[in-house]
Amino acid sequence: MPLPALVVIGQPSLDFPSASTELRVAKFDDPIVDAMNLGITRGDGVFESVGIYGGRAQAVDAHLNRFAHSASLLELPRPNLEAYRAAVELGIKLLGDVPDAYCKYVLTRGIEGRDSGPTGYAFFDLNPDWTAQRTAGIGVVTLSRGYALDVAQTAPWLLQGAKTLSYAINRSVIREANRRGADDVLFTTTDDFVLEGPTANVLLRFGDHFVTPRTDRGVLHGTAQLGAFAFCESKGLTTEYRAVRTDELTSADSIWLTNSQRLAAPVHTLDGRAVEVDGEFTIEMNDFLLSRRN
Ligand code: PLP
Repeated sequence: MPLPALVVIGQPSLDFPSASTELRVAKFDDPIVDAMNLGITRGDGVFESVGIYGGRAQAVDAHLNRFAHSASLLELPRPNLEAYRAAVELGIKLLGDVPDAYCKYVLTRGIEGRDSGPTGYAFFDLNPDWTAQRTAGIGVVTLSRGYALDVAQTAPWLLQGAKTLSYAINRSVIREANRRGADDVLFTTTDDFVLEGPTANVLLRFGDHFVTPRTDRGVLHGTAQLGAFAFCESKGLTTEYRAVRTDELTSADSIWLTNSQRLAAPVHTLDGRAVEVDGEFTIEMNDFLLSRRN
């Protein structure tokens, strides 16, 4: 099967009747999305990126739950989770015997000005080779997100905590990081707290204690971060969700950015200051993340 593999979801929401309830395999360059689709013209939709390793999708339920949560924050029709689950399974078969891959699945509000109902599809491709980022690590800069820590509570219409298709800012900050000689970004709040990266959560180590920012304060609840905490707990280390002040970044022993595709990337430099990379621990953590079943 030529990659990326593409699966169109006939009935992406059970709230909308649909001519077809089937999954349809399409060629990756088939025109499956209308030019006036609100996902394209407004970024009005939600998505998930799922890691696939050794023919198995990782954290499937956690991703589906977050997908439904994102859709509810955007007041979209409820996604037909069983259809999305089946699309992931079908896509894995289409991928065949590949080592490290991913799936992105999407739900958009549909076509502007038409009562078309939502649009849903999934695509599947190989992951780039993340070995260097997973071992040697990444350089990171902190950038302001322009919000205070309580944004999700005081301005819920800004949709913090939803994985929306509006990722232009999440891409522009990477260009800014590159201009500053770094690979990735850690967002901070206007009241000096740590949030997350544009495509990752942050994990800080203080001795045998691991901390990540509270997930009800303007960040996505990451599936890889959940796995990283499970790994730490399996080793008898303690974990905690709490508000993290920016000055704690300088006292942490080590820092990682975690997501479903790159997994745990140790931070070797933060705002130009060297941070210790624990290579052996990171390899073990990534082996644990790669071995996750659902
Ligand atoms: N935060 C943001 C803004 C993200 O886009 C992502 C993933 O892309 C994450 C956190 C990490 O989530 P996960 O570990 O489920 O990939």
